[in-house]
Amino acid sequence: MKTPKFTYHAPRTVAEALDVLAEHSTDAKVLAGGQSLVPVMAMRLASPAHLVDINRLTDELSALEVDDAGVRIGALVRHARLERDEAAAASVPLVGQALRHVAHPTIRNRGTTVGSLAHADPSAEMPTVLALLGGHVVARSVRGERTIDAADFFVGPMESCLGYDELAVAAYFPAPPGRFGTAFDEICRRHGDYAMCGAGVVAVLDEAEQYVSLKLSLVSVNDVPEVLDLTEVVRGTAYDEVDHAVLGDWVRDRIDPPGDLHASADFRRHLASVLTKRLTREAAARAITTTE
Ligand code: FAD
Repeated sequence: MKTPKFTYHAPRTVAEALDVLAEHSTDAKVLAGGQSLVPVMAMRLASPAHLVDINRLTDELSALEVDDAGVRIGALVRHARLERDEAAAASVPLVGQALRHVAHPTIRNRGTTVGSLAHADPSAEMPTVLALLGGHVVARSVRGERTIDAADFFVGPMESCLGYDELAVAAYFPAPPGRFGTAFDEICRRHGDYAMCGAGVVAVLDEAEQYVSLKLSLVSVNDVPEVLDLTEVVRGTAYDEVDHAVLGDWVRDRIDPPGDLHASADFRRHLASVLTKRLTREAAARAITTTE
């Protein structure tokens, strides 16, 4: 299928891109990797009259900055670059653990991580990761710049709080505090498909190897990423004394997933429970081996 007709804009600076977005507002869309937008347009689910291609803005939007506190990526950092970045993997391992489940390598070579956040698909991995880590998105328009916490950024399925004239210029994934371990996995019919259910976990332990906190977020379960805080169930318990089956049941009883062609609601509940059992154990084990 072909896309509807549109006017193509190729700005040379972010300022120019923002001017075009301000001028055409509701009729314009940002084109980043095109891995979601182009199929959506080909299926005629969206028909923006103006496309603002940001791919020439490499000087301003390609930075990948890492320190012990977290990872900041510009809007043109492709999934594949972030996935392979060793410093990012050392600082915030959850990012790479999740990225290897995003689509296929060819799509990750082109798709951008910030684009995935802006697309806000409930079946996408990176919105869940941003929410679980308590990260944020930086958005800019001719009206100025604002920083939007993950908890406020996702407002509905395929809907972020970005204004029509706003460009997401960067995103920030903070590292969990202290002695932490993370894990991510998902279950799909074929590798690279969108997940029937996925989960990320962050476990933080103290010096006595007892839980300080335990958080989990699911993929393909909620309209917007929701962080489930299991800390009350495990606080003060040694990591090897936790009954992971109890954690699985706890999560299963608190979610209300949709049923669709890919999986029934009950099956998704079951998958969430299985992933919780497996990943909470894995994340805690990694926290034990973390060297500070
Ligand atoms: P685009 O397609 O260019 O844009 C997507 C949307 O975000 C558009 O509305 C666009 O206007 C907006 N946008 C993009 N960048 C910005 C910005 N900087 N500021 C404001 N708005 C912006 N994704 C997954 O997470 N998991 C998967 O398993 C998965 N499987 C896939 C399988 C296939 C076959 C395909 C084609 C794609 C798949 N994807 C999957 C999507 C892929 O990860 C996309 O790369 C990603 O969702 C969007 O990134 P993009 O850079 O391609 O954005």
